[in-house]
Amino acid sequence: MANAGAAMSRFERPRSLAEAASLLAAGDWAVLAGGTDLYPAHVGRPIARPVLDLSRIEGLRGIRRSDWGWTIGATTTWSDLIRADLPPLFDALKAAAREVGGVQIQNAGTVAGNVCNASPAADGMPALLALRAEVELQSAAGSRRLPLQDFVLGPRRTARRPAELVSALHVPARAAGARSVFLKLGGRRYLVISITMVAVLIELDAGGAVAHAGVAVGSCSAVAKGLPALEARLVGRDPARLGACIEPGDLAPLTPIDDVRASGEYRLDATLTLLARALEAYAP
Ligand SMILES: Cc1cc2nc3c(=O)[nH]c(=O)nc-3n(C[C@H](O)[C@H](O)[C@H](O)COP(=O)(O)OP(=O)(O)OC[C@H]3O[C@@H](n4cnc5c(N)ncnc54)[C@H](O)[C@@H]3O)c2cc1C
Repeated sequence: MANAGAAMSRFERPRSLAEAASLLAAGDWAVLAGGTDLYPAHVGRPIARPVLDLSRIEGLRGIRRSDWGWTIGATTTWSDLIRADLPPLFDALKAAAREVGGVQIQNAGTVAGNVCNASPAADGMPALLALRAEVELQSAAGSRRLPLQDFVLGPRRTARRPAELVSALHVPARAAGARSVFLKLGGRRYLVISITMVAVLIELDAGGAVAHAGVAVGSCSAVAKGLPALEARLVGRDPARLGACIEPGDLAPLTPIDDVRASGEYRLDATLTLLARALEAYAP
């Protein structure tokens, strides 16, 4: 640790978003939130760039209700999310939070950091895609918002510009009773990189039929993907009979690879099973 500190050229811990943005505008920084991805990626070698630690920025941590829906501040940790009083809309994201490493990792790691790290196996991605989350980016020039699927471009690749930081994730409000489900399959029960994972959000109309569906799958393509054909087919259905709606063709957006964890073929098969189970969870 002493060696890494000695080699690190500069470490700044701004107190405000404006201060962070002006530092970012003037240099090439490694942005640090919880450090649970950034530091393991530098084991045995120093972080070459100066480090900008977001953890002390006031107002950036916590989950707030907004006019549009919900705002998850950029330094909100997985443990903050688990403890927050949130509607069943967030059940999938909370379930994903409990899967991220162990409690120490959940105490340090942030939801936004999981997204910014852009791993194909990031546990937060399917739930946030199903929720139709948007990413807010802040720079000295102002802020902009991108749908999550336009933010994560590929493995370890996002649409963030060097002078920007992610200040928040936004989740649109849904009708009361909207509920989401997350299921993950790994080679063992805990502390595991997933073979596949699915998230489903179902919102009902006044008559009790599906008004809106969000469905996304992680670890089965270079970035987590939504399944729009299935989402469209679920609308208008009786929530008690959703399990039978899934068809193999719905998985067309996925491009799973063969690796040490599973073959691509197994991943697709397991995904169909997880999706059917997630959809069956809406039966009364
Ligand atoms: C032992 C262990 C187990 C783990 N298990 C899991 C797991 O089961 N599932 C899982 O999904 N992940 C897992 N992780 C990975 C990690 O904990 C999560 O991805 C976590 O959410 C990352 O958040 P962080 O705040 O620590 O990110 P950091 O490490 O601080 O940052 C990650 C990346 O995002 C960038 N970044 C972070 N925040 C911002 C921001 N606001 N604006 C711009 N850029 C930003 C950083 O520059 C860096 O490139 C594990 C990690 C460890 C060490």
